[in-house]
Amino acid sequence: MALAAEEGFDPEDLEGLEGQGPLPVLAVVGRPNVGKSTLVNRIIGRREAVVEDKPGVTRDRVTYEATWNGRRFKLVDTGGWEIDVLGLDAAVAAQAEVGIDNSDAVLFVVDANVGATDTDEALIKIIRRAGKPVVLCANKVDGPSAEADAAMLWSLGLGEPHAVSALHGRGSGDLLDAVMAALPDAPPQTFGVVEGGPRRVALIGRPNVGKSSLLNKVAGENRVVVNELAGTTRDPVDELIQLGGKTWKFIDTAGIRRRVHLTSGADFYASLRTSSALDKAEVAVILVDSSEPLAEQDTRIISMAVESGRAVVIAYNKWDQMDEERRYYLEREIEQDLVQVQWAPRVNVSALTGRHMEKLVPAIETALAGWETRISTARLNAFLGELVASHPHPVRGGKQPRILFGTQAGIRPPRFVLFASGFLEAGYRRYVERRLREEFGFVGTPISISVRVRE
Ligand code: GDP
Ligand code: GDP
Repeated sequence: MALAAEEGFDPEDLEGLEGQGPLPVLAVVGRPNVGKSTLVNRIIGRREAVVEDKPGVTRDRVTYEATWNGRRFKLVDTGGWEIDVLGLDAAVAAQAEVGIDNSDAVLFVVDANVGATDTDEALIKIIRRAGKPVVLCANKVDGPSAEADAAMLWSLGLGEPHAVSALHGRGSGDLLDAVMAALPDAPPQTFGVVEGGPRRVALIGRPNVGKSSLLNKVAGENRVVVNELAGTTRDPVDELIQLGGKTWKFIDTAGIRRRVHLTSGADFYASLRTSSALDKAEVAVILVDSSEPLAEQDTRIISMAVESGRAVVIAYNKWDQMDEERRYYLEREIEQDLVQVQWAPRVNVSALTGRHMEKLVPAIETALAGWETRISTARLNAFLGELVASHPHPVRGGKQPRILFGTQAGIRPPRFVLFASGFLEAGYRRYVERRLREEFGFVGTPISISVRVRE
């Protein structure tokens, strides 16, 4: 199911259109069975989200796009996670926490017939701590006789309880008006990355590694004539290049072509260009001169790319100059100095002869796929359960911290949040990352793992 919400767009493609930009995100939070899915279906006017009359049905957070009074927003159903793994409260709290972190406002759903439970109170604490605007929905108010139940929820201290019947639609318009008032117009953009259009590639590397030569080689006859592609930008610093049947946007190629004749300040200029190109790109192709020993500047540029959170491909250029001896030393250098990017796809190319140019696109595509990989919460927790059982954290001071639960909080790059019963040592966190990569791939992408400790 391709949802419009996932497709994204490039604001530059939509010049002249009003009101475009990243959409504000509403997290729908509540304990299982209060009617979140029913409400989400009601709001998006669809029937396809799973609704089952049984608490704790496994499903993941799902994002939908919705419109109310002409305003578009994203709706994240924080869903019901596999709660047998942990106690119910911990799982519900964990899910709410991640959902809320990634949102601009919270729609908190309570079953008015049941009233507020301890789990609801626990959720309220989390919502308060996050400090995001919140709208309170008193659900299952199917008729006037249940209005009094809704009014009881004033005591939660979250403002007006909006009485709603998600099942029948009663009160949902007023609820959406309140939601609209709570949502900001344009949320802050993550990473400064604009979505949509041709994939954006940054060609980076220290001076003289062959960026300009490589660009000329791949561009060759493949350069896309301005205007040929409807709706793409005419930014003269970027170039649209047709490769492997697709159009790619090579970022800041003007900076590559502009030969810098400065005797001093060239390094500074190069690093400025690198960081600005990374800002705008989705994937970095890092060029290294394989005919020379790896320089400190090479590893610095690689670190910049990894820290920027972009997908990464490493191209070892000038391979036409390779011989047995150099190859031996290069492999040692890579083992020693590039352990941090062992996961990056590698291509051995020559911009001079054109060697292996055809391998560049598959490598870029692999890296982008890794960058956008999403692991379902159920799969992730099955994996974590096995990991914890087969390789528990070492006992420290009589205690043994355990990973209780995990979720993938985002992609581009994949970000994970682990909930643990105690502090996880760096070595153990690295082990988790290594095992995650073995299990799920994540080729060509940095991944981030953050740990939250639950007492
Ligand atoms: P979730 O676990 O919070 O997503 O809850 P669901 O949307 O799966 O709903 C749980 C149950 O409550 C289902 O049987 C729904 O049909 C029922 N339900 C949801 N909203 C309402 C409502 O407004 N009134 C009534 N009577 N039942 C509702
Ligand atoms: P940039 O500063 O990274 O843009 O590097 P250039 O593209 O200007 O290349 C620097 C020098 O390396 C030039 O003399 C190129 O001809 C040479 N060069 C680039 N690619 C290759 C290659 O694959 N093999 C060889 N032998 N020389 C190359």
